[in-house]
Amino acid sequence: MSSSDHPAVLVVGAGPAGLITALALNKNGVPTRIIERRESFHGGIRGTFIQPRSIELLASLGVLDEVLKISVPPYTIGVHGAGKEILSEMKWAEEADESPGTPYRCGFNVNQSVFERVLREQLEKQSIAVETDVDLVGIERSASVARACLLVDGIQREEEFDYIVAADGAKELTFEWRRSSMLDGYFWLVLNIAWKVALVHKGLAYPSLLDTYEVERVPVIAEMLAMTSNLHKLAFASSSSVSALGEHNADVSAGQKVDHMFRPKTGLQLGVNCRWSPIVLDRRDTGAGQATLVQNPYGRDSDVLRAGDRAPDAPGLLEQPGGREARLFTVTAGCTQHAVLVFSGAAPAEDVKAAIVGLDRYRRGGIASVVVIAPQGSVMPACAGAQVFIDGAGHAYGGYQIDPRSLVFVVVRPDGIIGAFATGLEQMHKYFSAILL
Ligand SMILES: Cc1cc2nc3c(=O)[nH]c(=O)nc-3n(C[C@H](O)[C@H](O)[C@H](O)COP(=O)(O)OP(=O)(O)OC[C@H]3O[C@@H](n4cnc5c(N)ncnc54)[C@H](O)[C@@H]3O)c2cc1C
Repeated sequence: MSSSDHPAVLVVGAGPAGLITALALNKNGVPTRIIERRESFHGGIRGTFIQPRSIELLASLGVLDEVLKISVPPYTIGVHGAGKEILSEMKWAEEADESPGTPYRCGFNVNQSVFERVLREQLEKQSIAVETDVDLVGIERSASVARACLLVDGIQREEEFDYIVAADGAKELTFEWRRSSMLDGYFWLVLNIAWKVALVHKGLAYPSLLDTYEVERVPVIAEMLAMTSNLHKLAFASSSSVSALGEHNADVSAGQKVDHMFRPKTGLQLGVNCRWSPIVLDRRDTGAGQATLVQNPYGRDSDVLRAGDRAPDAPGLLEQPGGREARLFTVTAGCTQHAVLVFSGAAPAEDVKAAIVGLDRYRRGGIASVVVIAPQGSVMPACAGAQVFIDGAGHAYGGYQIDPRSLVFVVVRPDGIIGAFATGLEQMHKYFSAILL
């Protein structure tokens, strides 16, 4: 719970994970400090590639424009012969399939130290400076606070926080409170913990909501480690037929399995999901059966979109009244609130308005915005308490696989995950009651 006499959160480590955590928490209105044990910031290139899923989340966080200024299109990799001649060139990564739901089909390259500088500048604009030469050397926990033991200019002192987020590169602290680590661009995990900490800090959710971070994170990280281990094996045993995808190798053809430089589309992270999470809810009868619930953290195992999947984009929305064109990602951006998408289908406007009234407590409480999306070619008047759009190009109903005759609610979480597919207000309340006090 929040307390007024100390910043709510201490972020430990000013690498990409720590900086994005601090940005996301601050955006969520959580007073945050960020410390870095080094006297000066890292130099050098280190991590260079930002995946499409991470680009989407940088856009939602509002920092993409600045990052794009320092990024370059994906490098090609040249294979050089003994005389340094280029024998062959290959792509850095595969592109995602073309789809209206995927605005960024390929990642880009950026020098990590420059990327971190841009993130620090964004933080400074919000009056948060990274405190360098401050080392977290211990944590004492009590029921209400975390007491951090900090080494500042060689002098040890204790300070209290509600939460300590260890963004220390997942290697240096032997203790942990809540850990977030970048691990090849896992901005999703950072934004995942940020909205949960914010709700708990504001007294709107039980602290146990934070436990769902681990539940959602661990299978994804395990799969990522398996994938990178396989890539490593491939690089050092290129004649092997080990798949970089481990057991989920549907997008690797037989020929590509032996190419040690091949990077499968799965690595773009667009399929990363948490369908198994106890706080996602799917109440539609999709006919897909239990098979779709089998854990496959890096990719959907069917074409059916489910709760726990990445929420796709939908361009071509026409705002009502006026007809201004917008894309869904812009409407749901911000990383701070849920968005309840009310796919109005063939429901009469009065039913839609009643649904909006039913969602009012979440809107007024700052938990969720409400967005009505009416089918292509239909008419929907302005509704108090909601933004209203016509699905001008049909991409919202198509991408979210909604029958245009049905009234369906889709919850998009602040971290860009589909929290719920629901067919009635009762189910919506069930979703929110699982995360709110
Ligand atoms: C030489 C090298 C080359 C790399 N090349 C690539 C690459 O080509 N592609 C790629 O994707 N990735 C690469 N990486 C990995 C990439 O740099 C990491 O994935 C990324 O830095 C992880 O970000 P992070 O924020 O989780 O952790 P880090 O960047 O490690 O940041 C953690 C920060 O926490 C600080 N810290 C730790 N403990 C404490 C404490 N107790 N108190 C205060 N501060 C603390 C550390 O000083 C550090 O600055 C490379 C890494 C290295 C070292």
